[in-house]
Amino acid sequence: MHESCHHCDYDLVGLPSQGTCPECGEAYDKHSLYRAARAREPAFIRNIKWITLASFTLMILICGGVLSIRAEKPWGAIIVTLIVASVSGFGTFAYWWSERQERRASD
Ligand SMILES: [Zn+2]
Repeated sequence: MHESCHHCDYDLVGLPSQGTCPECGEAYDKHSLYRAARAREPAFIRNIKWITLASFTLMILICGGVLSIRAEKPWGAIIVTLIVASVSGFGTFAYWWSERQERRASD
């Protein structure tokens, strides 16, 4: 995530989340800078992120499915696939959820 002063574009990485820019003295709030940056992002870019995550989850499920069909003792592959896919799926859901909350908050 890119953190820079909205006034002079000074890099604010490593500085407290709220304060004044060391370069130009302008007050900043990283949270609102982040929100503003996210709001400027086109909707399809935001969607692409969770769609990518979702297809990654799907890919894990497909690969795991193929592996467990081919394996002599498929349970190991099935269990590993389910664990990895649920972690990835939960990540996708959490991302999608936070996006949705954020969009509601900014409406
Ligand atoms: Zn500045």
